[in-house]
Amino acid sequence: MKDILGQRRARIILENAIKQEKIPHFFLFVGPNGVGKVSMAKEFAMTLNCTSTDKPCRSCNICLSIINNKNPDFMLINNETIGISQARELKEIAFLSPISGRYRVFVIENAENLTLPSANSLLKVLEEPPSSTIFIFTVRDLGNILKTIVSRALIVPFSPVRREIIFSILVERGCPEDAALEISYLSEGNVEKAIEIFEAGNLERRLVPYLDIESLESPDTVLDTIAISLRDSIIRLAGGDERFIISKSYKSMINENRLENLIESFFFIQEIKTLEESNSDWKLALALLYRELEVR
Ligand SMILES: [Zn+2]
Repeated sequence: MKDILGQRRARIILENAIKQEKIPHFFLFVGPNGVGKVSMAKEFAMTLNCTSTDKPCRSCNICLSIINNKNPDFMLINNETIGISQARELKEIAFLSPISGRYRVFVIENAENLTLPSANSLLKVLEEPPSSTIFIFTVRDLGNILKTIVSRALIVPFSPVRREIIFSILVERGCPEDAALEISYLSEGNVEKAIEIFEAGNLERRLVPYLDIESLESPDTVLDTIAISLRDSIIRLAGGDERFIISKSYKSMINENRLENLIESFFFIQEIKTLEESNSDWKLALALLYRELEVR
């Protein structure tokens, strides 16, 4: 198997699982969005079912059909919520023998969206899964899922993707290096988010003008941008090397501020995020931050 998006720890756990005499039948892939959980599930399903000696070969019929989402034994379920009737249907299919390979692999994405009745209904099959069926649930956080489910699973942890990896993925897709570096910081280890920012294409206009704060739906991108500028300004003020500067496009955004003010502004950013999370009014606070930093 290969390290999908640098997820070495996950790869090793899965490889060891395959080597065991009795392969575990229920896995929980735990980690933030956009870090390769589904791609790793595919890699695992290919390794289990590939017909070549060097598994996964990525070129036999089974590997190719899994890559292209056309394998009848590889089911990726990513509904917003998984209702009780779908859970029952899954249980029925789970007891059928696989059609093309040795194992049937069910991947339930964002399993925190399972309703309580459907989770309970699946619990039985997770307790005693049919010998040729493997369940993989992906979740962002173990805290969001029933303990009775967690206790039956082999936990496979995923980490945020390293910045260098995100950088090279973006450059491969034609993103200029300057922008790729900046996005690799903004995307917080989430490849999907990084590609989204790149494809949206308005890297220059992430910082809305002061007067448009009222029309903002979320402060997230603006705050991320300001955080990068603050970081850059602190490096400049401290006489750091130009090579460590990420954002070339906001050179003049933060004027003549003292180091103290810049550091305080970091705390302010955190406070605005907290306001948003608790559904309080963050727009006034954001306007104050703009004033403070003389953003125009
Ligand atoms: Zn193969």
